[in-house]
Amino acid sequence: MVREGSFFTDGKRIQALSGLTAAAGILATILLSVFSPVSDDQKIKIWIVVGIVTVFIAIFNSFPKIYLDKRLTVVSDVVYIFMIALVMIFLGKSGSVLVILYMILVALDAFILPLSYFALVVLGSMLSIACISAINTNIFSSDFAFHMYGLAILAIVARVVAKDALLVKEEKETSESEIIELESNKREIRNLLESLSDGMFVVNAENMINFYNKAALSILKIVASEDKILGRNINDFLPTIGPDGPEIITNEVFGSLSSSVRNNFKVVRGDRTIKIHTNVTPVLEEGKLKGAIIFFRDITNEKNLDEQRAEFNAIASHEIRTPLTVIEGYLFFLLDPASKAKYDSLTKEYIKKAHEASQDLIHLITDILTVIRAEENSLSVNLKKVSLKEFTRDIVLSFKNKAKEKGLIINFKVLTKKEIPEVITDPVKLKEMISNYIENAIKFTEKGLVTVELGLLASEVLISVIDTGTGIEHGEQSKIFDKFYRTEDWKTRKTGGTGLGLFIVKTLAERLGGRVGVQSEIGKGSKFFFTIPVEYKNKKDLKEFKEGK
Ligand code: ADP
Repeated sequence: MVREGSFFTDGKRIQALSGLTAAAGILATILLSVFSPVSDDQKIKIWIVVGIVTVFIAIFNSFPKIYLDKRLTVVSDVVYIFMIALVMIFLGKSGSVLVILYMILVALDAFILPLSYFALVVLGSMLSIACISAINTNIFSSDFAFHMYGLAILAIVARVVAKDALLVKEEKETSESEIIELESNKREIRNLLESLSDGMFVVNAENMINFYNKAALSILKIVASEDKILGRNINDFLPTIGPDGPEIITNEVFGSLSSSVRNNFKVVRGDRTIKIHTNVTPVLEEGKLKGAIIFFRDITNEKNLDEQRAEFNAIASHEIRTPLTVIEGYLFFLLDPASKAKYDSLTKEYIKKAHEASQDLIHLITDILTVIRAEENSLSVNLKKVSLKEFTRDIVLSFKNKAKEKGLIINFKVLTKKEIPEVITDPVKLKEMISNYIENAIKFTEKGLVTVELGLLASEVLISVIDTGTGIEHGEQSKIFDKFYRTEDWKTRKTGGTGLGLFIVKTLAERLGGRVGVQSEIGKGSKFFFTIPVEYKNKKDLKEFKEGK
């Protein structure tokens, strides 16, 4: 068997041996021409052929592009063998020695050329010998058959012997070219990752760093050589601090094997604190955890600006709300018959209007504070057990008068015969959501009914507020839950409002683990609904609920 790494599988070495054989042929020809009884006339012809062959071989072997091209190898070998055959004519009988040389050349070709090319060399050589034999019957006539048979047998034997070697060589060449391709792909991917502006680390399942890019080092201002980074724990370079304190960046994905997790973390390195936005993706192989790819971006400046802006808004809103609540309180007190304040009916009318306006302002500022908190992701929930049926009915009752003032009837219906379970949720937020829907229903309905329905889905409770009001155009229905969106033109609108109400319902519903939706037809009315889960899902809130925080 021919083993990989042996002489016969090494194309370059065989090629070199071919070159040496050709050179030996030239030397042998020169020696034979000097030492055998050849006429001067013949000698000159021999040297001319030798000269031509020498130049030809020198050129051929000087350019790898030429000698590594298998098609050109065929041409060169046939030319060479033709030349040897020619020289043999000039040398007469003594030239027969050269037969050995071209036999060796043909045999070596069996180890480097594919079958079709090898067959061409053998045929070309046979043709050369046949031509020479035809030109000069003296030399080859008797030996012609011997040459032909000899060449054919040699070719077959060499090829059979070379078969294994060629196979091994081919495999070697394929795997070599595959390795080259892989290497170049690897280089390309590395260049791509290096040109990213996001930092990147690749870690194994033990959090050891396998790969990083330049941006990772520059964001974290790390100056260290590759050998000091690779193989080290990610937490040595990216000591992340989550909302609950120090936490290794891969904790969440390694814990849940979820597809990809985006988070914001703080990183404290020396006296520097930076805020980063991270995207961590687990690397799984047949369901087994192999590691993770971490992308991160420095968001310190953006976050600081956001925080400053939100802080300003929160302080401003809070500072406005405090005196407003005082004004609203005093106006309420003046209107309370128990206060025994003395004023005429016109003054009473003014006080009533001022009281309503102060209530609207407090409502607006409360909405703005809710939106700020939602955008900061700091909307806290205060979970309690709620009996939904009684809870919703009480809210509906509190709107009876308001509905009556507009000539509307307000109803409450439970859609299921099944027991509505007690749910754990935030009652303040729930009340705000239901009230917002009912207020809108009354506001946008001129006559008819407002119905509040309570239903049960597979794992959720469904609360709907249905009215017989103006309805909403189809194209607008997808936008009305957006912040500040109002269907009426602000210049011509008849109803007051900021466009924050539905956005807040959506934000609160999502915070409580639910969804919102609307169905509406212009002129017929609308049905606004939201769901909340029967079993509250956010583990962190539940933990606080159980600990009674
Ligand atoms: P606001 O009521 O303060 O304008 P909302 O976010 O509560 O803001 O509502 C956004 C818009 O959605 C309203 O301006 C109104 O055009 C439309 N809308 C809300 N509820 C209803 C309803 N029940 N019937 C018709 N249109 C409604």
